[in-house]
Amino acid sequence: PSSLSDAQPLDVRITDQRRLRHLHEVHRASVGDGFNMGVLNGDMGRGTLTALNSTEARFELTLDTPPPPALPLHLILALPRPRMLARTLENITALGVKQVTLLNTRRVEKSYWQSPELAREKIDQHLWLGLEQTRDTCWPDIQLEPLFKPFVEDRLPALLEGKQGLIAHPHTERECPRGLSLSQPTVLAIGPEGGFIPYEVEQLTAAGLAPVHIGPRILRVETAVVALLSRLY
Ligand code: SAM
Repeated sequence: PSSLSDAQPLDVRITDQRRLRHLHEVHRASVGDGFNMGVLNGDMGRGTLTALNSTEARFELTLDTPPPPALPLHLILALPRPRMLARTLENITALGVKQVTLLNTRRVEKSYWQSPELAREKIDQHLWLGLEQTRDTCWPDIQLEPLFKPFVEDRLPALLEGKQGLIAHPHTERECPRGLSLSQPTVLAIGPEGGFIPYEVEQLTAAGLAPVHIGPRILRVETAVVALLSRLY
């Protein structure tokens, strides 16, 4: 449905094969199971599975529960190559991060990101996979606009205003803290495969973020995201 205007239960029917497979094989769902479900306008509801077979699933959907809690963290992620971005997004949404800014930095491999439409399509597809994995359907807030512009120093101050934050940067002096008070809005910046260049670290530092490392091992972006988030929460 495109909106849930009242708390009347709605009969929702799913026939998409991939979703059905997911319900059967990943969730091992059965009639009576509950799912947090989103609708196209971003409203959330609670769906109870009322029928399931190989061709369709039916849910009774009511807008009676608040969305699952979101991690109050804004992730700033330099675009890695698409395959890695896919896995990174799945991890991010599965862990519950609700705000992500994808940006172009000096060492982003531009050749992979020539088509904004394709990028958006891939991004959405993998956000869904992460959400489905954890039975969460609260769509994250993903900003993609600075993609084809150089590093966003003109936008950084506004983006970071009033927030505390960290830059994940290997070989830096300070170790990433274990546990962070998230009562204040918090930003975490992660570099591309080639890392941030010194100028970018300077810009982010000037905007109030602190460079931190998570040990001497250089992790892939998708692994670094998970390692960092599990330290911070
Ligand atoms: N060649 C790059 C360098 O040495 O900076 C490696 C970049 S790493 C593959 C990609 C991103 O993951 C980094 O920019 C950083 O944000 C994060 N990362 C990976 N390992 C890390 C570590 N040990 N400490 C902090 N951040 C790390």
